[in-house]
Amino acid sequence: MIYAANFKMNHTRASTARYIETLEKRLCEAQWEERVLLFPPATALQASSGHITVGAQNAYMAQKGAYTGEIGLQQLEEFGIETILIGHSERRQLLAEEQEFVSRKFAWYKEADFTIVYCIGEPIEVRESGEEAVAEYLWEQFDGIDIDYEKLIVAYEPIWAIGTGRSATVEEIRATHDELRRRISAPLLYGGSVKRENIASISAIENVDGVLVGSASLDAEEFFAMMIEGR
Ligand code: PEP
Repeated sequence: MIYAANFKMNHTRASTARYIETLEKRLCEAQWEERVLLFPPATALQASSGHITVGAQNAYMAQKGAYTGEIGLQQLEEFGIETILIGHSERRQLLAEEQEFVSRKFAWYKEADFTIVYCIGEPIEVRESGEEAVAEYLWEQFDGIDIDYEKLIVAYEPIWAIGTGRSATVEEIRATHDELRRRISAPLLYGGSVKRENIASISAIENVDGVLVGSASLDAEEFFAMMIEGR
């Protein structure tokens, strides 16, 4: 299993450092062997150490340059960051990142040899149209994406389940992950209201190789307790 925490626009540099210290202590005590990824805000990036790999929630597809408000490879390299989230629905929706833009960013960070957690997910009206519509929508989000990239991790995150407290059902997750597995051999994460109460049933699904967690990852002890439940 892969356990990934997406802080979004939460935590500061100081609180992220405290979080990592607390979580790392627990992981050491538990002799943890599974993969743990942490995506703090850009201001809280720090070098990976111990069991926790720190990644970027976003970066622009350039080494450096005139891209006001963005960070690029130069800033990531300072911390040895080699992992990035691309295609999160909040960036697609709130920041209007189109598939063409997302795929260029993917290609650029692939060229830079990054581990890419590539996010896909359908809105509620597509889910309500049935499995076939969901599959069609999700495959379109792979336009321009190299699904055979060896450092690819796919995160399936139904938009209607993100931050709503309403996770997809075990059956919905199973059906969608089975569909994705037809063509994708990369690890498949599920994300969307994963919490302590549902992680065991989600992680038990055959083609679920990990989880991407937002809200329930914000407290280190809670996230660790959740990871224990998911093992
Ligand atoms: C996310 O946005 O990546 C996410 C999974 O959020 P939450 O766990 O809060 O639904």
